[in-house]
Amino acid sequence: MSFNYQTLDPQLVAATEDWVAENFDSKLSQLIELVKIPSLAWPDVDKQPLYKSAERISQLLSETNVFETVEIIQSADVGTPAIIARRQAKPGYPQVLLYAHHDIQPAGDLKQWKTEPFNPEVIDDRLFGRGASDDKAGVVTHLAAAEMLRDLEGDINVGLTVFIEGEEEIGSPNFSDFLNTNRERLEADLIVVADSGNFELDTPALTTSLRGLVSIEFSITTLDHPLHSGVFGGVVPDSMMVLTKLLASLHDENGSVAVQGLKQMPDSGIEVPEEFIRLQSGILEGVDLIGKGNLVDRSWYQPSITVIGIDNPSVSDSSNTLQAKSRCKISARIAPNDDPASALQALKDHIVANVSFGAKVEFGEVELGSPYLARNSWATKLAKDSMAQAYGKQAIDMGVGGSIPFIAEFVRQFPESEVLVTGVEDPDARAHSPNESQHLPTFRKAIQTHGLILLQANRIVAE
Ligand SMILES: [Zn+2]
Repeated sequence: MSFNYQTLDPQLVAATEDWVAENFDSKLSQLIELVKIPSLAWPDVDKQPLYKSAERISQLLSETNVFETVEIIQSADVGTPAIIARRQAKPGYPQVLLYAHHDIQPAGDLKQWKTEPFNPEVIDDRLFGRGASDDKAGVVTHLAAAEMLRDLEGDINVGLTVFIEGEEEIGSPNFSDFLNTNRERLEADLIVVADSGNFELDTPALTTSLRGLVSIEFSITTLDHPLHSGVFGGVVPDSMMVLTKLLASLHDENGSVAVQGLKQMPDSGIEVPEEFIRLQSGILEGVDLIGKGNLVDRSWYQPSITVIGIDNPSVSDSSNTLQAKSRCKISARIAPNDDPASALQALKDHIVANVSFGAKVEFGEVELGSPYLARNSWATKLAKDSMAQAYGKQAIDMGVGGSIPFIAEFVRQFPESEVLVTGVEDPDARAHSPNESQHLPTFRKAIQTHGLILLQANRIVAE
């Protein structure tokens, strides 16, 4: 469904700015309170804190008095609690779903932390603590948006669903089932995911693409049993020799993927200096970068292929033998506009075409993850306009090189919905690493952005 959004109401910009100025300290206190709860969903970890976190979040959502229902719902398998708060849209108005997750990564090596991970501390303009940025600031951002709707709009027309997942950091094992089972509770015209971030500290970004994933196992066989290399070496091909020749054909001399049939997207035009990539990756001095085109586009918009495992005798078990059979696993990141099934076929075709000496190929297990590419719609315009006002700077379209399986799942299960990926992280937020922190000015701007999206959605109707 499309909605009649044209431009942001200027009154809303001023009103949300004032609201944030007045309420930011209390939102920060709520964030600190949530970061103190070590809400891990890890299977062998005590789940009490995760339940405590779910209870507290559902209480905070209830206290807004915006929602008709606030429920804690168990996922089927591992028993992790999600929270769904819902208020139904008036006829003709959009239903907006705000997504974040309340489970966190483990703290990791405590010696590397300069603060206590679960005793959050503000240092300069950052709040340090595990989960501060990923994704508890996302949770509080949604809570604030609901409160803004209540405080600043006389009539609430828009529908609002807040969905806080409890198992994102363990790979959302029940997500697909959960969406299916709770379809009616979750149905929405617009889904706003707050679990990504900005490209630079001061530059807002809408994450508009994610690469997909195709991984495949295969084996190469040349002999019916291993042979003495002194007797047959130089006459009979061994499986590893065939495999290495094949793997070498996956990339050209620049290190770009050389498999026909994989798609790539046009350049973003966003330039980053090579030094930035060198610093972030820790690539050794004298080692060259690979690929062609814009540096960011190589990981956002182009495919990549990595050999991630080979079964052949290890060096310590090696002998002077021609191996009969070698097993290998390769993993490809595919461009946001590509399709996992056709990319898989392209990889298989390439493997079959590049096996030398008539060796036998056998394909094994396959893993497919769909990419994501945002539509250009009323919703992307609304989000970018809101960001431009809150940050005072135009938002850029950002890609993410990895896949976020639950985003693809949202798109798959709700194909009619607009899905927007935003977030509160910045390049120095260090999600998943020691010294994770939330940049507070970004938190403030994200709250205003989400408030603007929701309040403007309260004033638009279906076309
Ligand atoms: Zn996250």
